[in-house]
Amino acid sequence: VKERGRDAIEFFNAHMAEQVHHQLLLEGQLHKALEESQFELVYQPKVSVKTGVLTGAEALLRWRHPTRGMVSPGEFIPILESSGLIIDVGQWILEEACRQLQYWQRQGYWHLNMQLSINISPRQFRREAFVDDVISTLRDVPIEKGSLDIEVTESVVIGNVDETVATMRKLVSSGITFSLDDFGTGYSSISYLKRLPVSTLKVDQSFVRDITEDRSDKVLVQTMATMGSLLGLKVVAEGVETEEQLMLIRDFGCHEYQGYFYSRPISADDFTHLLTESIAS
Ligand code: C2E
Ligand code: CA
Ligand code: CA
Repeated sequence: VKERGRDAIEFFNAHMAEQVHHQLLLEGQLHKALEESQFELVYQPKVSVKTGVLTGAEALLRWRHPTRGMVSPGEFIPILESSGLIIDVGQWILEEACRQLQYWQRQGYWHLNMQLSINISPRQFRREAFVDDVISTLRDVPIEKGSLDIEVTESVVIGNVDETVATMRKLVSSGITFSLDDFGTGYSSISYLKRLPVSTLKVDQSFVRDITEDRSDKVLVQTMATMGSLLGLKVVAEGVETEEQLMLIRDFGCHEYQGYFYSRPISADDFTHLLTESIAS
């Protein structure tokens, strides 16, 4: 038994060492990724539930790894966050999204009421310079007021709600709106909904996934949608993959949706096509 125990510990240590090695390797590669322009944004359409009309997009980060191909954000965003690299990459995301949005607006492809959303990590949001960084980016790359939306999760709040509210208010007065992302998955979603100046509530895809079979998920989505609407917020359902799911979230009063049923996240060029088609129709 003792022998086996020691083997297990050795195996465990070897496994941990391997993981640490893997993390360090990725971290080194991520440092280079920004310099070597290996990051890209893809765009997932947001669509009106009632009319099926395109209402904007969410920009999502991708890493084109030199040998591994596309690496998914689930694998590398935690490393960007723990290493602090998320600050520089986050700034790049903001600039790149604004440049792309400006292009679409200057070409006349971007409808007046459409919005482009970007994701901001809590670590970037809580930086003292965050408001100034955003405002100076908007000065360098002007876009139409009201066309940029920032998605945050409730974890931006950690510790100080007043500070979070103050940061958000400053940006709201510069024409930015906020969405509360992954709604329902945290500990205090409802209390933050009351205090934070957000315009949109995004119902997390984990509730939408089983909405057609799971009675509790059905009730939860319906309740979140009703509450959001009564609070005067736009309600967006994430992760809609089937027509049945779409019918249910429509009955529950969600205003917009994202999901594979309409489209996966697509390249900027493909999104341009989608925009020009939606103008033509
Ligand atoms: P999120 O913000 O909740 O983004 C939605 C995720 O759901 C995206 O995964 C999207 O591709 C995926 N998705 C959309 N529709 C469907 C669907 O119908 N079914 C399923 N199964 N999935 C769907 P992605 O792009 O892999 O991003 C994962 C997470 O990584 C994001 O979750 C977000 O937390 C983070 N992330 C992505 N891009 C950025 C970024 O630019 N900055 C920051 N800070 N985080 C990002
Ligand atoms: Ca998001
Ligand atoms: Ca989400």
